[in-house]
Amino acid sequence: MSNTLKQIIDGLKSCLVPGRDFYPLHTPVFSGREWDFLKDCLDSTFVSSVGEYVNQFEQKLSEFSGAKHAVAVVNGTAALQVCLKLADVSDSDEVLIPSFSFVATANAVSYSNAVPHFIDINEQTLGIDPDKLGDYLANISEIRNGDCYNKFTDRKIKALVPMHTFGHPADLDRLNDIAKQFNLTLIEDAAESLGSYYKNKHTGTIGKLSALSFNGNKIITTGGGGAILTNDSDLAHKAKHITTTAKVSHPWKYIHDEIGFNYRMPNLNAALGCAQLEQMDSFLAKKRALAESFMAAFESIPGAVIFKESNFSRSNYWLNVLILNSDSSHLRDELIEASNAEGVMTRPAWNLLHRLKMFESCPRMDLSISEDLERRIINIPSGVGVVP
Ligand SMILES: *Cc1c(COP(=O)(O)O)cnc(C)c1O
Repeated sequence: MSNTLKQIIDGLKSCLVPGRDFYPLHTPVFSGREWDFLKDCLDSTFVSSVGEYVNQFEQKLSEFSGAKHAVAVVNGTAALQVCLKLADVSDSDEVLIPSFSFVATANAVSYSNAVPHFIDINEQTLGIDPDKLGDYLANISEIRNGDCYNKFTDRKIKALVPMHTFGHPADLDRLNDIAKQFNLTLIEDAAESLGSYYKNKHTGTIGKLSALSFNGNKIITTGGGGAILTNDSDLAHKAKHITTTAKVSHPWKYIHDEIGFNYRMPNLNAALGCAQLEQMDSFLAKKRALAESFMAAFESIPGAVIFKESNFSRSNYWLNVLILNSDSSHLRDELIEASNAEGVMTRPAWNLLHRLKMFESCPRMDLSISEDLERRIINIPSGVGVVP
């Protein structure tokens, strides 16, 4: 192993709780009232689509984030799908999303029969680059009757979906300005950013609609789960309605007034979520301490740096990001092999979405920054359980 690799792996280990054989990327920690709340569900028989924990979880999410409304659903992908539907995204519309994201962002667009249109990110935020996006839209789009059209595909561009990469907020004010200028609905993919703030506002409260995820690898988990955040009462009501089979409230009649989804979060999952949410402050403090310790360690290690939140944001540091210098990028795969062999789990960033075969023919801008960062980014152990 080269000296650089050894220094990097030793540097990572020096920040983790000593004495373990294996340091996972991110595993859940159940150190609160999880067992009590789950037992309560079983004892009450309310384990499924009816129960008080769902209402409580929604209420607590809304309080925590400052969003007026939260609607709990079965997973983050379903949350995104519903956000897009409520933004009227439909057949052959285009939706602007980063290529540097998890596949769910593009899948959700496809569920609406719309087309993902891939946008580049910047190195300051790891989120969509507002300067590059603004220039690009000025070139490729035109407004007709108040709608934004892609001049080259003749399709409507309906929405802009920034994603807060690994918990780090994208530059939301600037992206919101662009969305307004081009008549696009801003929808945040905040799946990774519960507990992250942009200029003191919680991520997911600036877009018209936002999606959260509580999958097992996220900062808190409900097993599987997600939520839609919005400040718009009408949209919140619609979100609740279409995720609960569009059933019209009645003591005994089965009236459904449109084709809805069975996406409501079960009570069992919400119970877990209530217990997890109570531990957010301590989770956030531990993750921040770990990130700071990585940053300090890598000040004296050549070849790589740890990504730091930008000065307008406070990140949840969901997954820490090691960025190799350009002249060390050839070491990426070797580093991943070597660190995993030593029990320190590392992973590359996602395969860029425009390279996946089902999205290869989708429209895209120049993606050179995404392509460069994809070669240099490695995720490192970041869960609360590995913090000393
Ligand atoms: C996790 C994640 C999702 C989807 O969440 P699920 O709950 O797994 O469906 C969507 N977008 C991003 C960026 C994610 O990381």
